[in-house]
Amino acid sequence: MTASRTGYFTHPECRRHDMGEGHPECPQRLDAIEDRLLITGVADALDRRQAVEASLSDLELAHDRLHLAALQGLEMQLEEQLQAGGPALMHVDADTAMNRHTWTAARHAAGAAIAATDAVMAGELENAFCAVRPPGHHACRAQAMGFCFVNNVAVAARHVLDRHGLQRVAVVDFDVHHGNGTEDILAGDPRVLMVSFFQQGLYPFSGDVPRGDNMLNVPVPAYSRGLQVRELIEQYWVPRLEAFQPEMIFISAGFDAHREDDLGQLGLVEQDYAWITQRLRGIARQHAKGRIVSCLEGGYNLGALARSVEAHVRALADL
Ligand SMILES: [Zn+2]
Repeated sequence: MTASRTGYFTHPECRRHDMGEGHPECPQRLDAIEDRLLITGVADALDRRQAVEASLSDLELAHDRLHLAALQGLEMQLEEQLQAGGPALMHVDADTAMNRHTWTAARHAAGAAIAATDAVMAGELENAFCAVRPPGHHACRAQAMGFCFVNNVAVAARHVLDRHGLQRVAVVDFDVHHGNGTEDILAGDPRVLMVSFFQQGLYPFSGDVPRGDNMLNVPVPAYSRGLQVRELIEQYWVPRLEAFQPEMIFISAGFDAHREDDLGQLGLVEQDYAWITQRLRGIARQHAKGRIVSCLEGGYNLGALARSVEAHVRALADL
């Protein structure tokens, strides 16, 4: 048997971040994915690797030092609060909270994206999926928001540009929500092309007007189905990606545009995620030696999330 060409990066610390009972961005999301990949046998075909923690200098590739210091400070405040018998959570916005493990989890999530990037650049893997949380694409250069603290994909994209010397990378975001954090960090960087679709009028209520020439945002009306989204991808994303000729593709892989996901009102299903992934894989093979690093973002219906990740990973691994 030949070694697997698709990596699967995760870390137990990513499970310990918990924003409280009933929060949709919950540790069980990772359990659902793991279970599904195990029971279907897909896990056997992947090269499973443990993430390492990102350093502050890694995170500073995409974030203000003050933002990182603030997260670190909040973690310390939380420890003191807990020792004084206070609450276990500290909110950074209405629906985003830190517990005592959040900062460590966030560093392992970004560390997974970096480790996956290094393994792909070294030729050990063709592509990789990072099953990590907290997610990243709403995390701005200087602000945590929307369940996100550190922008895993933006950190890894800057890592490969600044440290591996690539000239052009594409960031593809198919989460139902606009990746405002990634846009905040990467808009105006001519080495990056970001293409995305997202449900119009949904949180974080941005994206209709792109913040840079290197951003291609495709707002999609609520209740659109997969075939409509596929047509928009062919029409808008593919020509720009082909013209840009990325040397590597990063995917912000959110699965909340799924028909069964209540956080959005789009109608994608597993086959759509398989199709999108195959399409990106074709582009990566043509221009980027197949190099793709995909990081989990949203996806809150546990069953739909698990099945969609399976479809995505099967397409990455040619299963
Ligand atoms: Zn989302």
